[in-house]
Amino acid sequence: MIWEITRACQLACLHCRADAIRHRDPFELTTTEGKELLDDLAAFGPPRPLLVLTGGDPLERSDLVDLVSHGTALGLSVSLSPSVTPRLTRAALAELQSAGVRTVSLSLDGATPATHDAFRGIDGVFAATEETIRIVGELGLRLQVNTTVTQQNVAELPAILDRVYRAHAALWSVFFLVPVGRGRRLKALSPREEEAVLHWLYEVSAVVPVKTTEAPQYRRVVVQRMRGENPPLGEPLFERLRASTSELFRDAVSMRSGFGSRRPPLDINAGRGFAFIDHRGLVYPSGFLPHAVGSVRAAPFSVIYREAPLLRALRDPDALGGKCGRCEFRTICGGSRSRAFALTGDPLAEDAMCAYQL
Ligand code: SF4
Repeated sequence: MIWEITRACQLACLHCRADAIRHRDPFELTTTEGKELLDDLAAFGPPRPLLVLTGGDPLERSDLVDLVSHGTALGLSVSLSPSVTPRLTRAALAELQSAGVRTVSLSLDGATPATHDAFRGIDGVFAATEETIRIVGELGLRLQVNTTVTQQNVAELPAILDRVYRAHAALWSVFFLVPVGRGRRLKALSPREEEAVLHWLYEVSAVVPVKTTEAPQYRRVVVQRMRGENPPLGEPLFERLRASTSELFRDAVSMRSGFGSRRPPLDINAGRGFAFIDHRGLVYPSGFLPHAVGSVRAAPFSVIYREAPLLRALRDPDALGGKCGRCEFRTICGGSRSRAFALTGDPLAEDAMCAYQL
């Protein structure tokens, strides 16, 4: 469960889903409403939902520590997805850790200051992110690194992987672009390129635990590779990624043989084990699928999640349209519902960015 507790943020990232703004919206959920939401989430019972507080920048809210303490006291696992700004100090992270935060996710969209800072819209964020990664490690917090893949940075993926590896990240979350918010201005990968990246991610997941966001096809690729099917050999991007990676990891492991234990991908998708609540309390199947299915100001989240017709339809693989509806992998993949919605206006349509041939 992702809760965008505010849309305020001092960065201006090129791919921002939230179209973040400088100042807090006066119609954000209040502290009291937020705590009621947390009570409702805890009432799901064990296993309780995993909660990620995101933004905007969650540190823009002065009641952040209070909300985290309330949630963790209820037994919720609360993670934080902050922006790297001057507010994100060692003291702030230590206070949040004392309130119960165990995992912090930080964005790294380039392997150099030039590319990362260009994505973030502000100079110096790359250096500040490296420093924050160091502090997160020193405090003993679990680190997740988030990277959004576009045409602009795909060639840098091996170098970003190298940084993720050296940071001892517990998880590398690779986001595939959905044309919403400011992300509409960026260039997404082609289906063939995306397929190449997914196969490459499977290979490097022997070294760094990997998850994908808005690319559930990764689960299909994992199954295909585990049953011995070939990667897209000869695909130029795949070969380039592989070549750069073997240079970086020359002494580490054989990427091709499969090594170590891979983190199995979580079987969740928009509305199916996953939901998003925005700063005003509107509930969505995903943060990248701007089709509200209710408001926590009108009904408890738990009721909306269980009963909203769209969420129920999204949980039915046989309700999917086009090739996703006919695909043998529809129960474990189902395609990115956000991309289907962005490209067609129908959240149940096929995911046209999938390269799989039925
Ligand atoms: S066709 Fe749809 S369900 Fe099948 S692998 Fe592609 S995105 Fe997934």
